[in-house]
Amino acid sequence: MKIDVNLISTTGIYTLLLFLSKEVTLTIGKLGKQRFPMGYYTYTGSALGKGASSLKHRIARHLRKEKRKFWHIDYLLADENVSVEAVIIAETNENMECKTNQHIKTIMGAKVPVKGFGASDCRKNCESHLLYFPEIENADCLVQKLVTHLQSSSGILSVYVVH
Ligand SMILES: [Zn+2]
Repeated sequence: MKIDVNLISTTGIYTLLLFLSKEVTLTIGKLGKQRFPMGYYTYTGSALGKGASSLKHRIARHLRKEKRKFWHIDYLLADENVSVEAVIIAETNENMECKTNQHIKTIMGAKVPVKGFGASDCRKNCESHLLYFPEIENADCLVQKLVTHLQSSSGILSVYVVH
């Protein structure tokens, strides 16, 4: 995947679209050992700060394999069988992370793979900010649906997909 992170504006929300090429069992920090079936996943987060908390730094960090593991998603992204297929970015100052995640949860047969994943700070009962899509074979439709949803949501300045 090629992405010029410098093009990303200072703040916003993002969804990583991941593909796991085979089933794996991984230790996810304090969540312990968890099984992840093969297939497509989304992970939705926000970066609404400056500097290291800016959106471009956050995306660059997610795409870097070598790093100290801090967030739950770091453990999953570190696995050699995981690839980032797309990053869908919405430039906004509004914290729409949970709202967006909850929308994704209602589409295309989304399932919660691991309760509490990426949701330590979540106050909106998302259960998980990682979602699994057992029914889809191709990610294009999921990306399209997500872009359409974000474009029609309030507070969004622009949405783009980087592959
Ligand atoms: Zn949430």
